[in-house]
Amino acid sequence: MRRVHPQDLRPGQAIATLRGVTLPDGSSSTLSIADGRIIAPPDAPLAPAVAAIAEREVEATGWLLLPPAADLHAHIDKAYTWSAAGEPEGSLEDAVACWRAFGSAVTEERIARNARRQLDAALRAGVTAVRTHVNYHEGVDPLRGIRAVLEAREDYRGLVDVQVVAMHDQFRDTGMIREAIALGIDLIGAAPHLSTDPHGEIDRAVTLAEEMGIGVDLHTDETLDPESLDLLHLARRTADWPEEITRSAGHCVSLAVQPPDRLAAVLDAAAEARVSIITNPLTNLYLQGWEHPVATPRALPPLAAILDAGVVLAAGGDNVQDPFNPLGNGDMVHVAAALVLAGHLAPRRAWDVVARGRELLGLGAAAGTVGDDADMILVRAASVAEALAERAPDRIVVRRGRVVATRLTASDAVPVSTRKEVAL
Ligand SMILES: [Zn+2]
Repeated sequence: MRRVHPQDLRPGQAIATLRGVTLPDGSSSTLSIADGRIIAPPDAPLAPAVAAIAEREVEATGWLLLPPAADLHAHIDKAYTWSAAGEPEGSLEDAVACWRAFGSAVTEERIARNARRQLDAALRAGVTAVRTHVNYHEGVDPLRGIRAVLEAREDYRGLVDVQVVAMHDQFRDTGMIREAIALGIDLIGAAPHLSTDPHGEIDRAVTLAEEMGIGVDLHTDETLDPESLDLLHLARRTADWPEEITRSAGHCVSLAVQPPDRLAAVLDAAAEARVSIITNPLTNLYLQGWEHPVATPRALPPLAAILDAGVVLAAGGDNVQDPFNPLGNGDMVHVAAALVLAGHLAPRRAWDVVARGRELLGLGAAAGTVGDDADMILVRAASVAEALAERAPDRIVVRRGRVVATRLTASDAVPVSTRKEVAL
């Protein structure tokens, strides 16, 4: 078996042993991998047949294992359109209006190209699970974006697991939603707070989901209006659903402006109904608060209170360089950093939130313990805090024990020992 360093690994190569890797709790460990899982270290050298498959022993001292990231709220059908849309700026309502006008001319080919570009970026960043919302697009052929994203989902199978949420609004008839379900979408979506009848929209989504046997992921209370508490209605309507049927609420911004007793009651109801909350800090920092030129609210729901109430909390990168956020890039390291800076979670807790989304997609645990999937991001850092602070420039992405992507800084071209001479 050859011993190599993580920076020598290339996509396609399998890892047999990771020696001296740092785990998120700061301990150092040597991990053995076989058949795509972390196994107990073998007492004796691996049998020849196993050794032939598991090619490499990796000396990983100085590298940290991060459980792979899950982006539980994306819009890959809109990605990379900010410039083409005229470089708009403004609130959620402004962005929605811009998209309605601009999106009508976006072709299926362009949607497909941009969706693949975002999934490529996600893979290199170590985001191996993505739940994306997709609009019924304006103009002719409203299902073109859904078809484009479903094709991308198939292209990335085994690399990035993609769930597709088809996002209707009050102007889309139920027949069209049934068509999208027949095409193979995973979940029903909507943004009830933008409609004239939010509870009616939730009821329509829930009733249709029950009839079709699938789950829902709704944009929920993406507003600083404290009277918007659609989360409570969603919880009441799905409280008797079987546990395995998804009911997620994205954003939940108005939780940030509730009095403590009402907040506690709503979170208790969400926990009881097993509604998961997906927070999207980067987009909400950008979209909300334009009407508050001073003391601008951060517009993140109270993350610690959500976790303490026993609600499953995951996170999303949300918009990637589109009219809803010109600066999103789908990199969940940046999202985790925002959960620390704007949401006041400790760095390790923030990464737990970012990794937790795997569970909502039905993927197995991947925390580097025996029996886990051998899925991970190796980053050159001493701790989770350092990885988030430095934004983890060097990353090796591993799925089922095999390298699937690498991202290394150019400094690797010059060994540390010779950098000084180069400088001189
Ligand atoms: Zn969204």
